[in-house]
Amino acid sequence: ELNQKEMKLAKNYVNNVYEKVTNRNPGENEFHQAVKEILDSLVPVLAKYPKYMENSILERLVEPERLIIFRVPWIDDQGKIQVNRGYRVQFNSAIGPYKGGLRFHPSVNSSIIKFLGFEQIFKNALTAQPIGGGKGGSDFDPKGKSDNEIMRFTQSFMTELSKYIGPDIDVPAGDIGVGAREIGYLFGQYKRIRGGYEAGVLTGKGIGYGGSLTRTEATGYGVVYFVNEMLKDQGESFDGSTVIVSGSGNVSIYAIEKATQLGAKVIACSDSNGYIYDEDGLDLETIKRLKEVERKRISEYVKEHPNAEYYEGCSGIWSIPCDIALPCATQNEINEEAAKILVANGVKAVGEGANMPSTLDAIEIFLNSHVLFGPAKAANAGGVAVSALEMSQNSMRLAWTFEEVDAKLHVIMENIYKNSMNAAAEFGHPGNLVVGANIAGFRKVADAMIAQGVI
Ligand code: GLU
Repeated sequence: ELNQKEMKLAKNYVNNVYEKVTNRNPGENEFHQAVKEILDSLVPVLAKYPKYMENSILERLVEPERLIIFRVPWIDDQGKIQVNRGYRVQFNSAIGPYKGGLRFHPSVNSSIIKFLGFEQIFKNALTAQPIGGGKGGSDFDPKGKSDNEIMRFTQSFMTELSKYIGPDIDVPAGDIGVGAREIGYLFGQYKRIRGGYEAGVLTGKGIGYGGSLTRTEATGYGVVYFVNEMLKDQGESFDGSTVIVSGSGNVSIYAIEKATQLGAKVIACSDSNGYIYDEDGLDLETIKRLKEVERKRISEYVKEHPNAEYYEGCSGIWSIPCDIALPCATQNEINEEAAKILVANGVKAVGEGANMPSTLDAIEIFLNSHVLFGPAKAANAGGVAVSALEMSQNSMRLAWTFEEVDAKLHVIMENIYKNSMNAAAEFGHPGNLVVGANIAGFRKVADAMIAQGVI
């Protein structure tokens, strides 16, 4: 049993480090939020194992190994020179090469890249694959850009980024605004610059040139596999349940697909303009065509499905009653108010497909209301886990079947659930997956850092 004195020491230590983070990174609210969520939950493990405080592990963890910021000049279709800002944070390499996606979205700034990179450290550790934590992106807005503009921007971005990455150094992938098309252009440019075929430098590649089967589906399938484990423990399942999935990108689409395969009815999804509601259950083929092929807005759905309804604005989606909510759009999409409405409407489980989609207040409401809550770094780790499997296949110069990769993904998600539940119970918060995931991820990285000396 942990005594009060040790707990108090650990709490003071955490508050001290958090204060340093807020002072050193002024105004970076998303980064502060991600750090606070993790640090607060580490108090019991810090209290039990003095080695972490003695080795100043938190001070080192919250400081990225490297943050690269660069100019990305490109020429638009009118012949005008445009300039965007590019980022790559190489946050932690204790357990493997930096690994994490690239986000192209106008909201991207240092705070967002650092929150994502910090989360990625622990998420990647949870997958039990040998990958460190990194993230990158740009404030470039792909919306409304022509295919040629996307290519010119992406090539310019890679021309600079290529100086800092490599299959054993740092391995980017996709995130919001970066899908198969962008990864293709990024890979092509990297290959030209290097003059050699280093397949493992990026993941999420096309199947024909070194990509892994199941990578496209992995994040969405993984979220559903994870939530299914949470439900199973309570004698429940997706079968016959009503589900809401926010977003309509890659994560959402495959979460909808897997939930539907498991017998659920998914009645709503969204994009950054609004959401669609179809009480008979969404027709996934229409959504896939609209979003993956035609790159249109989700509002187009109702033109083909007159029974469905479209509503402007995104937050309204959480006031639709459901059994299971899967936020798969973006950070802080569920605030305190939305969480209260979900709870009042009787939500049983929440699984985070996006990164940090719930505010700290929202998480507290879910936990206090005994809603089953699957935090992002555990629930959405399937994407990066299969990225690591893609790296393995590239190294071995072979390709596993869809079924083989899907089976491995399934086992990885089950293990993340088990390890997080065990850590939560061991450190005095049974059933609390926020605490469990943070502690399980932390211990692996922190122990590796201690073993490697002052790094
Ligand atoms: N962007 C995804 C994430 O948030 C995947 C990263 C990757 O595959 O490297 O985990």
